[in-house]
Amino acid sequence: MLQRVAIGTDITARKRAEEAMWKRANFDQLTGLPNRYLFYDRVQLAIKKAYREGLPMALMLLDLDRFKEINDTLGHDMGDILLLEIARRLSHCVRETDTVARLGGDEFAIILNELEDRVSVERIAQSLLTQLAEPFLLNGEMVYISVSVGITFFPEDASEIEALLKNADQAMYDAKEAGRNRFSYFTRTIQEAVRSQAILANDLRDALADNQLQLHYQPIIELASGVIYKAEALIRWRHPQQGWLNPTDFIAVAEKTGLIVEMSDWVFKEAARQVKLWRRYFDRRFQISINGSPMLFHCAGDHQNSWFEHLRQKGLTADSIGVEIGEGVLMDASHVVSNTLFSFRDIGMPISIDDFGTGCLSLSCLQKFHIDYLKIDRSFVGKLLDQSNELMFCEAMIAMAHKLKIKVIAEGVETKDQCGLLKKMGCDYAQGYLLSKPLSAEAFEALLAKPE
Ligand code: C2E
Ligand code: MG
Ligand code: MG
Repeated sequence: MLQRVAIGTDITARKRAEEAMWKRANFDQLTGLPNRYLFYDRVQLAIKKAYREGLPMALMLLDLDRFKEINDTLGHDMGDILLLEIARRLSHCVRETDTVARLGGDEFAIILNELEDRVSVERIAQSLLTQLAEPFLLNGEMVYISVSVGITFFPEDASEIEALLKNADQAMYDAKEAGRNRFSYFTRTIQEAVRSQAILANDLRDALADNQLQLHYQPIIELASGVIYKAEALIRWRHPQQGWLNPTDFIAVAEKTGLIVEMSDWVFKEAARQVKLWRRYFDRRFQISINGSPMLFHCAGDHQNSWFEHLRQKGLTADSIGVEIGEGVLMDASHVVSNTLFSFRDIGMPISIDDFGTGCLSLSCLQKFHIDYLKIDRSFVGKLLDQSNELMFCEAMIAMAHKLKIKVIAEGVETKDQCGLLKKMGCDYAQGYLLSKPLSAEAFEALLAKPE
């Protein structure tokens, strides 16, 4: 009898252990939701069922927007509590028969079975967004988050699990690119766009190897004297089939594929080669600004050191090349970004804030990083009229920058009236089609050589 009890306990313990193991293998420890493995199983089952019953099924991929920022600022513990609460809210938005899974990190997925119509999917997607838009109260702190959702249908968009997941992923990126906090359906247009981006990314790799890239230079003029003060280098690509491409056609692809790092190195070295010549032949203080991608500021240390070393080897001082960055880079509070910015400042490479006024950068940031130039975005300059709001904004930006000992460059100056108003407001420099479009190095040189 005693023996039988012992065996019984043994079996129960083993069963429990097995159950615990199965749970660990199939469920996410933090939220208790099905994990990636169980999710795959469930999608397979849902496909079979949908096929048998002839009712469509939808797959949603959800990626939280800027979850990393929350984790970085509030800490991982709070991040975990938030994920748990999100899991709870998501589960409330769907039916018992549907599956909500956590695929990892801040990525969730939902399987919607036995769909009668597409309207119900739309309703669920909308309610997911609304539910997550409500603030989360975490340890007495109000936290806001949003989500980007990609949706695909079986059998309409694909019949295989891998293809369905890829579709949902593409749709989710489409939602991110359209501004986040929204859902997007997989469509052939998205697929086409993704395909042509992949081709462009490949071509860009060749472009770097085949010398298809070129820098054009746009003069930046000192308003008081009318003299060319410096130049901004703007990249152009002579594509073998598509002809000349502007940066807006390929920078996003370069960023997405990481090719931007190699491209920026090329830009930097080419600008350094050019500024050395122009310093020798025209003005020994001449400066060229290059556009720095946000990604450069996220990769740690060695990169900028290799740039500094390159300048040193060429016998150029650090102020010969300036770097333009968007407001977003400064708004990112991470250490890596700050350290990179500080190292530029320490070595003496001038930093400009590009397209200023489009974000909501705080003044303390400008001071902290010792910014040298503010470039007023052309959306303000383009609407400059006597007594307009834009005039007030520009006046305020110039006054504020000057208080912080920062010089101001107005971008996109296209008319004499704009130029006159900017001069009257005390703006230091101007750049725009009125003064000159971006020019090839030879044409720019001709401009430099022209007697004033
Ligand atoms: P950005 O740095 O703000 O450069 C100014 C853009 O405005 C340039 O467009 C220039 O051609 C255009 N522009 C200048 N004056 C006027 C004007 O009076 N009116 C109008 N409508 N436009 C004017 P572009 O060359 O197409 O460059 C677009 C953006 O691409 C740049 O904006 C910059 O953010 C990015 N970019 C350019 N070259 C590079 C590069 O080498 N690396 C990286 N990462 N980004 C680059
Ligand atoms: Mg720029
Ligand atoms: Mg700009």
